[in-house]
Amino acid sequence: MKKPQFYDITHSLDQSIAVWPGDSSFRYSLGWDMQKGDSCNVGAVTMSCHTGTHADAPFHFTREGQRVGEMDLSIYWGPCWVVDIPTGSSSVTLEHLKGIDFGIAPRVLFKTGSFPRREQFPESVVPISPELAAYLKQHGVFLIGTDAPSVDPLDSKTLSAHHALLENEIAILESLALQQVPAGRYELVALPLKLSDGDGSPVRAVLKTLELK
Ligand SMILES: [Zn+2]
Repeated sequence: MKKPQFYDITHSLDQSIAVWPGDSSFRYSLGWDMQKGDSCNVGAVTMSCHTGTHADAPFHFTREGQRVGEMDLSIYWGPCWVVDIPTGSSSVTLEHLKGIDFGIAPRVLFKTGSFPRREQFPESVVPISPELAAYLKQHGVFLIGTDAPSVDPLDSKTLSAHHALLENEIAILESLALQQVPAGRYELVALPLKLSDGDGSPVRAVLKTLELK
């Protein structure tokens, strides 16, 4: 039996990670510091809920939306597809989903190449076409992810894809680190933190290849 392989699809979090222009920068600092004579190191983190690889909660873009701590964890754990979006595509469309059997894996991650360097926030991304949401729901999909920092164009004020996905009960992962991952079927784990009031949360996202006999 072939041993499963794991892909860590999470961006490392440190000061060099790019954040959405104008958002809080990432900071880790030691409150207690052994180099200063304290008996242990105790760090504190300051960050935006949308820095690095993260889950969006509906409260991010709707006033009364669900908070991230209330999200059903089963969404973020289970079979999933990674789909390659060809370079030069202006958005992710139905054409990219042809032939995918969502019956065996009702989650899908899009590898768009939109955020190639974690240190540099992109100027534009390959967004998700809002029309996709209804099709995905019809096929039983309840989670989509992208390597882009947003499912919408970066200058979008309406956040049409975010809203279309929510209307179709599809959860969102953003800024996934998919560069090393070949397209195919995997098991995904990407659990958000239990932030009671959170509009989003960093996740540790991992893909495991399927055990093939
Ligand atoms: Zn987000």
